[in-house]
Amino acid sequence: MGIENIIAKLASLGADLSTRNAVKVALSLISEDEELTDQIYVEIKNKAYKEDFAKVPVEKRAVFIPQCLRNVKECPAGFGEYGWECTKCGKCAIGDIIEHGEKLGYRQFYVVPGGSLVKKILKEKVPKGEIKAALGIACWPELAEAGEKLSMLKIPLQAVPLLRAGCIDTLVDVERVKEALETGLEQKRKPRIQPRTHSRRHNRIKKKVRR
Ligand code: SF4
Repeated sequence: MGIENIIAKLASLGADLSTRNAVKVALSLISEDEELTDQIYVEIKNKAYKEDFAKVPVEKRAVFIPQCLRNVKECPAGFGEYGWECTKCGKCAIGDIIEHGEKLGYRQFYVVPGGSLVKKILKEKVPKGEIKAALGIACWPELAEAGEKLSMLKIPLQAVPLLRAGCIDTLVDVERVKEALETGLEQKRKPRIQPRTHSRRHNRIKKKVRR
C-alpha cells in the first residue's frame, strides 16, 4: 500500500496521528511496517503545516540544508558562525537551491553539519522573531525529529527528504525543494519548459536511486 493510501486508511479509522509514537502504534494496529513511521509522520506534518508556512513572509523563513549535499572534494565554502557559507560555485545542488530561493526573496539559508547547530540558530533567532517558518532537507528520521521539535515552538515546517541519505554525497530532488520554496508564492513561479536539473552526473544518480 502506498504512503498516501496508508495515511487515508489511518485517517478513515480516526487514528491518533499527532505524534511519532501515535503513528507507530496506529501502523501496528493495521499491520503495516512500523519503519514507515517517520515517513508518514513527516508527510502528515507537511500537509498540516503547509497553509501556515505559506502565510509566513519569505524573509522570515529559514532554509536548513544538510552539509552532506556538498561536493566535499571541491567545495570552496568556508565554515562560519551559522554553517557553511556557500559561494554558489555550481559544484553541487546547494548553490542551485540557494540561487532559486534568493530569487524568491529568501534570505536565510543555513548549510549545517547537524542538529546541534540547527538548535543554536533556532534558539537565537526564533525569540527575536527572525525565524517564523522553516524548510528542512534531511533524512526521514531527522525530519521527523525536527517536526516534533518545531511543532513545540509553533514553527511551521515544510520538509523535503533526501533521495539518498548518508554522511557524504547525498542526493535530493532539487525540483521538489524548489516547489517547497515556492509554497505560498505560486504566482512568482516562472514556467520551466524543461525541469532544470543539476548535472548529468546528478541525473544519473537520481535515476539509479529511483530504480
Ligand atoms: S555550490 Fe556551494 S555548497 Fe556546493 S560545492 Fe559550491 S560552494 Fe560548496
